[in-house]
Amino acid sequence: MVTSTKGGVVGFVTVLSLCPGCRQPFIYNPSAVPSVKLDGWRKPICRGCLDRLINPDRIANGLEPIVPLPGAYDPFHDSE
Ligand SMILES: [Zn+2]
Repeated sequence: MVTSTKGGVVGFVTVLSLCPGCRQPFIYNPSAVPSVKLDGWRKPICRGCLDRLINPDRIANGLEPIVPLPGAYDPFHDSE
């Protein structure tokens, strides 16, 4: 849902997608959520899959774990 600030209305935006890892819906801030590259496209990934799948794999390969930005999995103000 997108809500405009025009006319004095203040709103928050929630983006909902299916996670490519667990196929469960989750909400996120598209400007902050971690993503993975699948089929040539970057796809947002849920916090659970980040913690259970992505970061353990990164650590096993000598990479730093991904730390989500603050608010990555929260609704965000429509001025962002
Ligand atoms: Zn997931």
